[in-house]
Amino acid sequence: MEGAGEGSAKDRLVVVGGGIAGALLAKSMQSIADVVLIDSKDYFEIPWAELRSMVEPSLTRRSLISHTDYTRARVIVSSATHITENQVFTADGGSFTFDYLVVATGHAYSTPRGRDERIKEFQLDNEKIKSSESVLIIGGGPTGVELAGEIAVDYPEKKVTLVHKGSRLMEFIGSKASKKALDWLTLKKVEVLLEQSVDLNAISEADGVYTTSSGEKIAADCHFVCIGKPLGSSWLHESMLKDSLDKKGRLMVDEYLRVKGQRNIFAVGDITDVPEIKQGYLAQRHAEVVANNLKLLMKGGATEKKLAKYKAAYSMALVSLGRKEAVAQFPFITISGCFPGLIKSRDLFVGLLESDEEIELLAEDDVESSGKNEHPPRDAESDGGAKEVKVKDEDSEPGDEDVKEENNDGDGDHGVDDVLGLQ
Ligand SMILES: Cc1cc2nc3c(=O)[nH]c(=O)nc-3n(C[C@H](O)[C@H](O)[C@H](O)COP(=O)(O)OP(=O)(O)OC[C@H]3O[C@@H](n4cnc5c(N)ncnc54)[C@H](O)[C@@H]3O)c2cc1C
Repeated sequence: MEGAGEGSAKDRLVVVGGGIAGALLAKSMQSIADVVLIDSKDYFEIPWAELRSMVEPSLTRRSLISHTDYTRARVIVSSATHITENQVFTADGGSFTFDYLVVATGHAYSTPRGRDERIKEFQLDNEKIKSSESVLIIGGGPTGVELAGEIAVDYPEKKVTLVHKGSRLMEFIGSKASKKALDWLTLKKVEVLLEQSVDLNAISEADGVYTTSSGEKIAADCHFVCIGKPLGSSWLHESMLKDSLDKKGRLMVDEYLRVKGQRNIFAVGDITDVPEIKQGYLAQRHAEVVANNLKLLMKGGATEKKLAKYKAAYSMALVSLGRKEAVAQFPFITISGCFPGLIKSRDLFVGLLESDEEIELLAEDDVESSGKNEHPPRDAESDGGAKEVKVKDEDSEPGDEDVKEENNDGDGDHGVDDVLGLQ
């Protein structure tokens, strides 16, 4: 049995999941606690650079970062399989004792364990696209739409067909955004087939023809499956946290982002049941709040009133459409074209990660001393000393374009946000 920092005076913190939320948290806690970061792969990946990397594999040099290049936490490359009150167990037989645990296993990826293999995977995908005259994309969520956009712009001579079983593209955001994406794809000659599906168990690239649920035949030299990834909570189903999972498999958290009913276990990012659109920049904010709370708790004597609170945000969503354009859903307006494209599509915020100095910004070592979350945001309500970090009308629905709350910009300190380009 291994402990995070066995024999050390520091508290032992285990972070499970090395996506945006977990990576930031591990980095920001590394000088306060003995941190173990458990991830099923040895690198951090900017998720929204995935589709561009399929048409431009050299982007992976900047969008895939070895965990050991940005954090001094002890990195364990294995899948977590089980937890008890004070231990996490991994698939390769490891066990790690914790004083505090943060679950950040957003989605379970079937991506390779090693960074080099992941780079190779993108190169192979790119060769497949280049050698095909026609491409079928299965799934019209953000992944399918962004991939269709990347191929349509970089390889306009190729025939792209997108099949989606829903009645509109990208149902996670409002219908105006769906319509704008559909119009843009149609303009780029992408054929979009809605309310149809393709049986994944009955397809083979060798056939060159795919039959949809309504019997339509699609000729394509290759296909890409872009359906939603499963939540990364299956490993908790038989654990002590099984009753903390909601029906969808998300971890139920309180306003401090602590798993409901637990004293020393927090959850951050897509795995939580916080009622907001699941976005990376919000996962960052979760990590900031939890880092703040962990530091207070580790110092000792923190009462609940001192802990930072998180309130679900009305979030913006940006889906890129090729290299220059995007569709963006902001609180009051949904727009598409070059303006939102300027925000995201050009380099998908990856350029901001280029220098070591900027990688250092991945998190601040001391949230408190930087003043982060020390003061409520401009529009937050004070609550007897409790710190509000998000502001949202709890009744508002993601995708409802009439919501009147502002996107919370928190405290105006964008050190972490700047790295991923979101403010
Ligand atoms: C196409 C697309 C475009 C997007 N564009 C944007 C955008 O422009 N802006 C934005 O803010 N958000 C965007 N998002 C959303 C954003 O990617 C997610 O909200 C964000 O990645 C969530 O981060 P996370 O850390 O919670 O989880 P994830 O990024 O899902 O990371 C989870 C980590 O946990 C690991 N893991 C899972 N299970 C285990 C286990 N049992 N043991 C060990 N490790 C495990 C995984 O390997 C992974 O490293 C986009 C998403 C997609 C799909």
